[in-house]
Amino acid sequence: MSLSEVKEPLGMTGAVLPQIEALYVHIPFCLRKCNYCDFVSYPLEILSGQEYCQALVQEIKLYHKHLSPRQKKIKSIYFGGGTPTCLPVFALIFLLSEVQNLFPVAANGEITVECNPLTVNQEYLTTLKEAGVNRLSIGAQSFDEKLLKEMGRSHGVRDIIKTVEDARAAGFTNISLDLIYGLPGQTKEQWDDTLKKATALPVTHLSVYGLHLSSLSPWGKGFEDGSLTLPSEDDSADLQEMAMDYLETKGFDHYEISNYALPKFFSVHNRVYWNNGNYLGVGLAAASHWADIRQTNTSSLAGYMSKVQAGKFPVKDWERLDRETIMAETVFLGLRLLYGFDTLSFKKHFGVDFMEKYQPQVIKLSRLGLIKQSESRVSLTKQGIFLANEVFMEFLP
Ligand code: SF4
Repeated sequence: MSLSEVKEPLGMTGAVLPQIEALYVHIPFCLRKCNYCDFVSYPLEILSGQEYCQALVQEIKLYHKHLSPRQKKIKSIYFGGGTPTCLPVFALIFLLSEVQNLFPVAANGEITVECNPLTVNQEYLTTLKEAGVNRLSIGAQSFDEKLLKEMGRSHGVRDIIKTVEDARAAGFTNISLDLIYGLPGQTKEQWDDTLKKATALPVTHLSVYGLHLSSLSPWGKGFEDGSLTLPSEDDSADLQEMAMDYLETKGFDHYEISNYALPKFFSVHNRVYWNNGNYLGVGLAAASHWADIRQTNTSSLAGYMSKVQAGKFPVKDWERLDRETIMAETVFLGLRLLYGFDTLSFKKHFGVDFMEKYQPQVIKLSRLGLIKQSESRVSLTKQGIFLANEVFMEFLP
């Protein structure tokens, strides 16, 4: 079946899915809520993790029956949250083995678990490794004790270091850290120290995000009512540039706007997103995309549980994207990858010449020094990285 034959979202008609490349599993539990966070997450006590895991398996089975065996072979499984490692390890292992029975991961595939310090120890991580998890993504965020406290993180600096040490001792060789810049009151010295401490650890990948607040988080509310001051856009861009310059000296390849990796450690899972590939998201508030369909699950925990237990898809919103939007999304997601967007692949996929279709945008952005061309590839310049959202807007229909 070709992608264009998929006519309706599964939640509505029971249509057949195309080949799925990656599976995202959302675990919506955390030790406590961080001050900057607007993700869907709950304290674990509300519902036993085991009951939620059973519901996840039920949801995955609903999709499973719409796929041929070939279509169920995926490149990547990603357990994100929330904090997946809030679950007792046996619950996570049960989930992983059920998922792998239904969606086997290719031999060279990637299985990632997000974890936070203080929710794991060496024994926990060894169990994950033995069950087939081969990548850890650790929420470090900062190596400054004061900033960690102000962010409402439940861990300190020593806990981050201990988690990386435990992960190595458990046999993990692919370890990513999340870091955030642009925090209230964050100085260049603090950020420099965080970058140095992060790269002193045996990690292979760094996700480096600028602070983004919505009005749903305590900090977002504080910013709106004026009680919290954030660094200016220029100051934040300075911190971003510090990371770009410093991480390059440490051998990290800046391969995506917010992501850096040692050679051969690019994230398999996230590249499915950036290549506008087909992925299935299960669990609370999880998003999926295949062919021209995009859908999001309900973010109500009670609603999710009752739908799945009744054998129904817990989809809240879905939309069919028109061709112009799919092409535009393919361009700006592809431009996130700093080695560039391949115009030949674009032509092969859509039957449309990229340069002809987007000539005005390409001329304008090239003149402004925000994108560059090399053979068949188009990519952001350094200046374009700082103004990426403005570049992406140019391609929207
Ligand atoms: S641990 Fe992550 S998901 Fe949980 S509250 Fe903090 S930032 Fe949000």
